[in-house]
Amino acid sequence: MYIETSKEIGSKVYFLKPIRKVKCSLCNGTGHISLGKPLNVEDGYESPSEFVQSLVHQFAENYRDAVIGNIKQYKCPECGGKGMVKAMSPKYEVGEGTVVAINMIANTNGANMMFAVSEDGNGSTPRKLTDDEIWLDRDKAQRKCDFMNLERRLVPIECIQIPQSFAKTIPCNEKLMRRLDEWRKFETEIFVDEKLNLFDGYTSFLMYRMLGKNDVPVVIWPDEKRP
Ligand SMILES: [Zn+2]
Repeated sequence: MYIETSKEIGSKVYFLKPIRKVKCSLCNGTGHISLGKPLNVEDGYESPSEFVQSLVHQFAENYRDAVIGNIKQYKCPECGGKGMVKAMSPKYEVGEGTVVAINMIANTNGANMMFAVSEDGNGSTPRKLTDDEIWLDRDKAQRKCDFMNLERRLVPIECIQIPQSFAKTIPCNEKLMRRLDEWRKFETEIFVDEKLNLFDGYTSFLMYRMLGKNDVPVVIWPDEKRP
C-alpha cells in the first residue's frame, strides 16, 4: 500500500500546541509582588485637603522606600508564586518541530500515517500527529490556529440572523442528506459575524432547525478575520 505524503523524516513541520499555562499578569511571571506600606485612605482626616496632603506624603514615602529597597516581596496571590496561571483563551499556539519517525497505522478504516514530531528546543517525548495535524508551511498552521482560537458558543437558534440571499435558497435534498450523513460523524459549526449574521453553514443551520435543536454551536468571526 502506498500513501502519499509530502512530509518525510527530517522535515521541519508546524503543528498546533494546546496552551495550558500563560504568564501571570499580576506578577508578570515573576511569582512575587512587591508592596510598600499600604496607603491609609480612611482614618482620621479633618478635611479633604488634609486627605490629599496625606496621600501625597504617603506616596512620597512609598516611592522613597522603593528607591532605597525598603519594600517587601510577597508571594503572588494570583498564581501562588508559580508565575503561570491556567490559560483561558486563546487555546492554541503554533509549535515547530522535526519529523523523527513515520509509522503506518492500519485499522478497519484503512491506513493512516502517524508522524512522530520532536518539538524543537524541547527534549520531551515526540508528539504523535497525523498528516492533517502537521503543516510544512507556517502560515497554514497559523491560519488553522487562528481558526481554532475563534470564540465558539452555543446560541439560541432564533438569535441567528439569516441574510436574504440565504433565506431565498433552499438547499436540495441531496445536499441536506449529505449533511445528515456528516452529522453522524461530527457536529457541524455555523459561521457568524459578531452580530450573529450567518455567512457560512446555512445547510447546517437548516439541519439543526429540522432536528428541533434550540441551541446551536456557532463560530464567531470578528470582521477583520472573516475568510
Ligand atoms: Zn502571579
